[in-house]
Amino acid sequence: MDCFTHASTAAVGICKNCGRGVCRSCARDLPEGLACSDGCQTEIGELREINQRAKQIYGVGKNAKRRLPLASLMWGAFALLFGGLGVYQYVDVGRVDWFLLLFGSLCAVLCVVTYRRMKELKLNC
Ligand SMILES: [Zn+2]
Ligand SMILES: [Zn+2]
Repeated sequence: MDCFTHASTAAVGICKNCGRGVCRSCARDLPEGLACSDGCQTEIGELREINQRAKQIYGVGKNAKRRLPLASLMWGAFALLFGGLGVYQYVDVGRVDWFLLLFGSLCAVLCVVTYRRMKELKLNC
């Protein structure tokens, strides 16, 4: 195969983005392969960025260590806060604050739901 830009020169490789042949003088050596032009070099760089972010989000590769999903942590904190306030008011004043108790249990439910959904989707954010 010949270089796409220099028809008489033999290609030393293939651009990772567009698949065109590149010769030694126009090949750009990137960590993940060869690029034929500025545009392709940018494109490959962006793709690498996307790949790395996707890996992080889906917990693939070296970032596979699982964390507790932030959303369910947040709902859990809300549940403790409002549920705790509701119980505290009941103990302290003897009055049942249904709003606080209901909101607290709603948050607890949401906490469990989001956690299970995150687990199902294998999302890690
Ligand atoms: Zn290219
Ligand atoms: Zn060339």
